[in-house]
Amino acid sequence: MLKLKLSSAKSCCGTLILVNQQHPLPDNAGQLHLDKCAEKLVQVMPKLPQVQMQRIAACELMRLLNHLHAEQQIQPLSGFRSHQEQQELYASALAEHGEDFTKKYVALPGCSEHETGLAIDMALILPQIDPLTPAFPYEGICQQFREAAANYGFIERYPEGKENITGIGHEPWHFRYVGSPHAALINEQGLVLEEYMELLHLATSGGKIFSLPLPGKKVQISYIPATDNETIIQLRGNTPYSISGDNMGGFIITEWEG
Ligand SMILES: [Zn+2]
Repeated sequence: MLKLKLSSAKSCCGTLILVNQQHPLPDNAGQLHLDKCAEKLVQVMPKLPQVQMQRIAACELMRLLNHLHAEQQIQPLSGFRSHQEQQELYASALAEHGEDFTKKYVALPGCSEHETGLAIDMALILPQIDPLTPAFPYEGICQQFREAAANYGFIERYPEGKENITGIGHEPWHFRYVGSPHAALINEQGLVLEEYMELLHLATSGGKIFSLPLPGKKVQISYIPATDNETIIQLRGNTPYSISGDNMGGFIITEWEG
């Protein structure tokens, strides 16, 4: 048994954090949030230096694009945004497109996944690309991207039919890095991140075992609420693991079986 002590303040850090209107990032969002979580931003591809993500998300997105040989057809459009950039985007969307459109497609500053460096807006390369609602249809190379995304830890974050849960309109172009095996489990069960976190929060004490789409692969996933200053996490000790905060006052522990 391996015992770890984590600073409870880190429950807002990690690749599984839920960020939405009910669960905003802490006050010091954006770059400061990344500093606090000891995360750095890197560019996804050299030809688009303005599109940046957390290192693990940028690397996996690049691997996915390389796998599809898709660089000429689709491109990352918008990754990390600072708190100030999100404020400016929200204000300009309000002025240009009105309240209904903005509430549907632009997250409130502090509540945007783009401030985490874990979200990416993708676009089909066309002569004109709409910066807020880029085309990313359910066919051709975009659909191939969508279908392969979970293998690289990405989910389509705002699907049709779940708008009342996510609080955001259907966005075929917005993908979120949650890592492995979570992206595959979320896809397989047809959930959105809000529903998945609810499921994981039930997986306390001893964890819940999930079978993965790959034969013979199992993971144990459990949830530990953060306590005052430090949270003690007990691992089984000899298997690979990862730990992420949930931005809801707790930690998700993922331990690979065997
Ligand atoms: Zn987006």
